[in-house]
Amino acid sequence: MERKRELVILIIITIVLITRCANSPSYNDHQKTSTHSINFRIIYPQVPHTLHTTVEEIEKIANSVNYLQSGNLTVNYHPDGSIFGEYDFSIKNIHHNLVLYLVTVGLPDVLKLNVSLNGNNIELNRLDKYIIRNNTLGLRAKVYVINVSTSLPEIKGKIKYQLNYSFMGTLNPSWTIGTPLTWWAISGKGNLVNLTIRFPSGYIFFLPGYGLLNSTIRMKNFNINGIYGAFFMRVGKVQKISTGGMHITIYIPPNCQCSSQSLRDFEKIVQEALTLYVKVTGLVPTKKFYILLNPSWSMGDGMTTDTKVPVVIIGCSSIYQSPSVGNVVYSNPGLIFHELGHLWFGDYAEFGRIDESLATFMDFLAMSKTDKQYLSYLEDIENFKVLPNLKSMSLIYAYKEGILNPTIRDAIIYYKGAFVFRSLQFVLGNKTFFEGLRELLKECHDRECNLTDIQNVFENVSGRDLGWFFSEWFYTAKVPDYYVQNLSLEQKNYVSFDIIDKNNFTMPLEVEVKTPTKEYLTKVWVNGTARLEFKLNEKPIEIILDPNEWMVNENRIYTINGIKVNIN
Ligand SMILES: [Zn+2]
Repeated sequence: MERKRELVILIIITIVLITRCANSPSYNDHQKTSTHSINFRIIYPQVPHTLHTTVEEIEKIANSVNYLQSGNLTVNYHPDGSIFGEYDFSIKNIHHNLVLYLVTVGLPDVLKLNVSLNGNNIELNRLDKYIIRNNTLGLRAKVYVINVSTSLPEIKGKIKYQLNYSFMGTLNPSWTIGTPLTWWAISGKGNLVNLTIRFPSGYIFFLPGYGLLNSTIRMKNFNINGIYGAFFMRVGKVQKISTGGMHITIYIPPNCQCSSQSLRDFEKIVQEALTLYVKVTGLVPTKKFYILLNPSWSMGDGMTTDTKVPVVIIGCSSIYQSPSVGNVVYSNPGLIFHELGHLWFGDYAEFGRIDESLATFMDFLAMSKTDKQYLSYLEDIENFKVLPNLKSMSLIYAYKEGILNPTIRDAIIYYKGAFVFRSLQFVLGNKTFFEGLRELLKECHDRECNLTDIQNVFENVSGRDLGWFFSEWFYTAKVPDYYVQNLSLEQKNYVSFDIIDKNNFTMPLEVEVKTPTKEYLTKVWVNGTARLEFKLNEKPIEIILDPNEWMVNENRIYTINGIKVNIN
């Protein structure tokens, strides 16, 4: 689900490392040139201090970045699960004494570092340090403060590192912050490195920002900052399928169990989704892509990259059972539908955070075509995920500002957003709605679109003013709050009643009236209120509003004149 994207932003902030002047250069210039003291010296405090700080504080320091850092980084993977290598770097444009920061992330004893500057070994345990803890993100970082007294304009450094942990083990995904490339980082503006990655045959490596690597690679000027979620994976099963004009290679490592039945069902889900998406959007977003099943991610986590050859990563671990393809196929197929939806929304065309609403809309759509129980799927999402977590936050606010709490973020950006596009489909009808969707992909292929662009496209395609729809659904946090009132039963088979919306939306609404033997479905525009009349074959037993889950609305069940009212 690209759920990780939000996390990435925070992590980028955390691992940005910084250099800054210890003293104000203009103040000290005079004195410096007149002395001929030592060219280079590390200044250790008499007693090292440990301070606690926050991501926000580190972000502040990050804004004061002045000096340049560049170097050559090697990353070697050993099949025992460890990663080791070196970073040869230089810090340039130093005007004066310098404060360097060294960030390390992760559990103690996992990372071993040996750092030297201009040939001087740095004793980390003698340095002042900041600790950052964020339990929500499972983040623990140490920021070492290295005070350097120097009059040199440039210094050279070397970091030797070794990470001892198993990538594909049980590590919580959010502990893999920084990845092998950035579990540590040294301060400096730029952060472009020449990168060499080596690993034995029989493995693949996923590098965010680049894609899937099959063998040793060297890259110039690679930006390692903010790399999140890189991993090595042992190649187990490799399955190739073609569908909808796309060639897909599926990698399943040996530690993600895979019966031939679950693999067939996985392929079937992928094929069904891709065929449907190509049909409704009228386009093939990429000729080729990879799917990686990742047993160290939960089956609720996924990611789709917008790299040259896209990579779709699907978590396959479960808290109840060992990692398997079956976990995701039988318990969370929506994740597969969502991630594949990103090939269109997020990859082929970009809409910022609205990508998540649109990819989840594709999930709803695929679910409605492939699962007979899809209405209860939508009802559960409405009742248990969206309605308890609306928190007076409009979609437009959530799109602009983002939401850190994953439960609220999913409720609003993913699910409510998806429901609102489903509601738009209901308002416009399939033909116009999917025409709009196709136009949207065309319009936003080369540029990132926003909500106004989306409104414009749907207004142009439908020839209708949709300001009312967008303002009530995207620009307020409210959802319709329907009641059935003033019900009268004249004779035995005439029923009439008012529908009142306490939140005063203008929306078409499906209303179903059931008798013991028949169901009557009608669509009515509710503009705050509406009055309905039904001529029935016998006495009604139930009235259901929104029986096909076209929208998020407040849900309740009650009885009026002996008739069950289900506000669905
Ligand atoms: Zn997503």
